Amino acid sequence: MNLILFGPPAAGKGTQAKRLVQARGMVQLSTGDMLRAAIASGSELGQRAKGIMDRGELVPDEVVIGLIEERLPEAERAGGAIFDGFPRTLAQAEALDVMLAKRGRKIDVVVRLRVDEQALLARISKRFADEGRPDDNPDVFVTRLAAYNAQTAPLLPYYKGQGKLVEIDGMGSVEQVAGEMDGALGGVTV
Ligand code: AMP
Repeated sequence: MNLILFGPPAAGKGTQAKRLVQARGMVQLSTGDMLRAAIASGSELGQRAKGIMDRGELVPDEVVIGLIEERLPEAERAGGAIFDGFPRTLAQAEALDVMLAKRGRKIDVVVRLRVDEQALLARISKRFADEGRPDDNPDVFVTRLAAYNAQTAPLLPYYKGQGKLVEIDGMGSVEQVAGEMDGALGGVTV
């Protein structure tokens, strides 16, 4: 199964993706994690991405599309991918459909985690205090949220039009959201 976890930054996508990896053996493909790894390794790509990420803006489509493409064979061998933080623009969504189609695959379901912005701001100030990620700084977070609203939220009609969108309440505890997620995925036939 190929699944997209969809939602604003700090909605809990990474946490739920990791749980699904444990439970189902699928591969988590988080472009944010890949970019942070590139920064940590000091690669040229990482150096280019760092400034953009620190400002809370989106890195260019071709960069993240390339990162995802490299990892598709591994995800196939594992029985599917959980896309976390990708796609974030219509160009990325279209490129993903093309890349998968070339391999005889497709996105099976898009699970949207619905959370309100006040809750996100509260979560993020806690994560910033606990982990100190530069782009969790409250000022930068506002830019990330704006990027989500302007560039990523418009993907919802794209996936709704494909009949793949399932919405769940992302406001509960990790366990409650996990339960909702399992309910949503239980109805998906691949
Ligand atoms: P995340 O960990 O998913 O919140 O991503 C952290 C940052 O990495 C984002 O604010 C962007 O700067 C960058 N990033 C991650 N994924 C993407 C993507 N699919 N498209 C563009 N930029 C991305």
